[in-house]
Amino acid sequence: MKQIIAANWKMHKTAVETTEYCRAIRQMEADFEGVEVLICPPFTALSAAAIALEASSIKLGAQNMHWESQGARTGEVSANMLLEFGVEYVIIGHSERRHLMGEDDSQVRRKLEAALDNGLKPVLCVGETEAEREQGITKKVIEKQLSGALEDQDPHKLSGLVLAYEPVWAIGTGKAASVEDAQEAAVLIRSYLKDKLGAKLAESTRILYGGSVKAENIGSFTVLPSVHGALVGGASLEVESFSSLIQAARKAVIT
Ligand code: PEP
Repeated sequence: MKQIIAANWKMHKTAVETTEYCRAIRQMEADFEGVEVLICPPFTALSAAAIALEASSIKLGAQNMHWESQGARTGEVSANMLLEFGVEYVIIGHSERRHLMGEDDSQVRRKLEAALDNGLKPVLCVGETEAEREQGITKKVIEKQLSGALEDQDPHKLSGLVLAYEPVWAIGTGKAASVEDAQEAAVLIRSYLKDKLGAKLAESTRILYGGSVKAENIGSFTVLPSVHGALVGGASLEVESFSSLIQAARKAVIT
């Protein structure tokens, strides 16, 4: 399975900065062979990214979307609006949306379904907070988030699905999960997929790790048998650090 290295820029970069970054990174794309590289800028920079990445193998993702196609939803953006810019992936249920914007499992589910109905590939994020880990309920939390979004879905519709295990305590803290914790969560996610949605989907779904990933530690995650890439925040903001991270991920899988 081809690994995905996805850049989640969060609320960073103007359209001008995006153009500059995308022009620079596409000069290096010959070195990204074998890895699916994805950039998720803010909505306001999607147009600039789409133009700067035209005819490039680097793909475009969005950080969020609403489930309705149009209407009285001030401040929201729909799937068809994203498709207009050639967006292929959309991050759904990122912990910052769950915990800072109060997004619940039922909203995450509606977004996921709308993404799939519109031909967008969801990158569904799950992960426990530090308090939940300390209480020993990591497994329960992840399973609840998975069930909220995926229970009783038609596996045939989920072929583009990507999962991201992102422990909340590891995001933006510089304290990545241990390799053992990442592997354990990825195995848990895969076995949930197998039990509830079938072996075929479980085998074909890519599971990413996210949380303080950088060039120095990416290889230890991507060599794991159950992990097929990473969702990267801070280390994706500079062309040099993101491109070194992609190289390191690639090298770890090849060697
Ligand atoms: C993220 O935003 O999903 C993330 C993992 O951030 P960081 O790499 O900065 O921890």
